[in-house]
Amino acid sequence: MATTASLADLAERELAAFAGELIAPGDAGYDDARKVHNAMIDRRPALIARSASPDDVAAAVGFAARHDALLAVRGGGHNGGGLGIADDAVVIDLGLMRGITVDADARTVRVEGGATWREVDAATHQAGLATPSVFFGKSGVGGLTLGGGIGYLARKHGLTIDNLLEAELVLADGSRARASARENPDLFWAIRGGGGNFGVVTAFTFRLHPVSIVNAGPTFWPIEHAGEVLRAYREFMPAADRDANGFFLFGFVPPAPPFPEALHGRQVCGIVWCHLGSEEEAAQAMAPMLAVGTPLMHGVGAVPFPGIQGAFDGLYPAGLQWYWRADFVRELSDAAVDAHVEWGGKTPTGHSTMHLYPIDGAVADVAQDDTPFSYRDVKWAEVIVGVDPDPANAGVITDWTKAYWDATHQYSAGGAYVNFMMDEGQERVRATYQGNYDRLARIKAAYDPKNTFRVNQNIRPAS
Ligand SMILES: Cc1cc2nc3c(=O)[nH]c(=O)nc-3n(C[C@H](O)[C@H](O)[C@H](O)COP(=O)(O)OP(=O)(O)OC[C@H]3O[C@@H](n4cnc5c(N)ncnc54)[C@H](O)[C@@H]3O)c2cc1C
Repeated sequence: MATTASLADLAERELAAFAGELIAPGDAGYDDARKVHNAMIDRRPALIARSASPDDVAAAVGFAARHDALLAVRGGGHNGGGLGIADDAVVIDLGLMRGITVDADARTVRVEGGATWREVDAATHQAGLATPSVFFGKSGVGGLTLGGGIGYLARKHGLTIDNLLEAELVLADGSRARASARENPDLFWAIRGGGGNFGVVTAFTFRLHPVSIVNAGPTFWPIEHAGEVLRAYREFMPAADRDANGFFLFGFVPPAPPFPEALHGRQVCGIVWCHLGSEEEAAQAMAPMLAVGTPLMHGVGAVPFPGIQGAFDGLYPAGLQWYWRADFVRELSDAAVDAHVEWGGKTPTGHSTMHLYPIDGAVADVAQDDTPFSYRDVKWAEVIVGVDPDPANAGVITDWTKAYWDATHQYSAGGAYVNFMMDEGQERVRATYQGNYDRLARIKAAYDPKNTFRVNQNIRPAS
């Protein structure tokens, strides 16, 4: 294996035809290029290959293999565990590959592997269309899609992977491949939830749906009402029409407009809504929840779809400290509600939060083994995130997140959404894929027998 210093020298000689940028330790821009969204992650790769084309990606894959270097792939750099980057690795950074082509007639969009959802939503919105993606707009398309993709459109139109029509990849041996229902169907199955284990996706093609103006925004209740609100929500959400989506949260009212000044910093529980019907239909759908307790604020109104998806982007800029824990939740028993109320009440900092994302409705129309995403029969993806700008609070947010998870995991369905996990070991990865793990391992052995793509929630090649 070449040393870190020599890898940079070797790259200069061997990657002379590289069209993008090669950034090595000591280069101006190296420290910026190695930053990811989560500032708790501080890793020093040997080489960052900012690829401009699939040929660049193939060249970088071959270079890493020739020199037996660890290979990491960075899409949007948003992964909580920092899986887009690794110490001493060759990092293929897809940030220069962000092309987006909307075909309004065919209702499809082709997106290059380094784009973010904010960019995709803005482009498809111009045609009055959208594909299921996120609750938060900034995340990368690459990592989010390959892990599943949970967003406001999930109850109506399914996960992001349920709307993936085709992917273009560079494989571990440097060759190019397409994956779709017709071409390499085993590979197509594996990438719809199996993460970046099978190759570098240089472009995705998604199905689009007519989604334009939605009725969206938050309702907040005093934290003291949390038990009552959560008990009502657990019945309300799964029974609601598929046009309605609302995730539950614990947190604090952000100290900024458009939130009323009198509520700034107030500890609350809440629901952030996105309803796809008319204003009247939305009001009617939400009415039963608004009759629970005494809401402090109901800020729902008609907004362009990208508006609600980007609503929290400003509150969570890059560079904060993040610690993540997650679970899938099939039901919220009274004991589970009590545990949530206790730990939600102890939320340590203004940015820290717990969300319950609905994944019923259209998500459950797909069978458990139709894609690797195996938890099709649950109601929520739960995520607990300790977040703060100050590195001095890293311990506080980590301890709270772990303690909250320890208290509630016993009420979960077992595994967790891979995109909300940090480095939690093989057992957690297996728990997440359940009966689909062995098939993933066989496909991994066929496409990546040497486990070249292993900076991820790793599927070990079947032996
Ligand atoms: C603020 C915030 C909001 C979020 N909101 C949501 C949400 O609403 N819904 C949701 O489902 N998730 C959400 N997530 C989680 C998100 O899905 C994951 O963080 C995801 O890993 C991000 O993808 P990325 O490309 O930005 O990550 P990266 O850190 O770049 O990569 C993550 C993993 O994917 C692999 N990868 C990325 N791109 C490619 C590619 N093109 N080809 C092959 N492998 C690739 C990487 O190798 C790595 O293993 C959110 C995360 C953050 C930080």
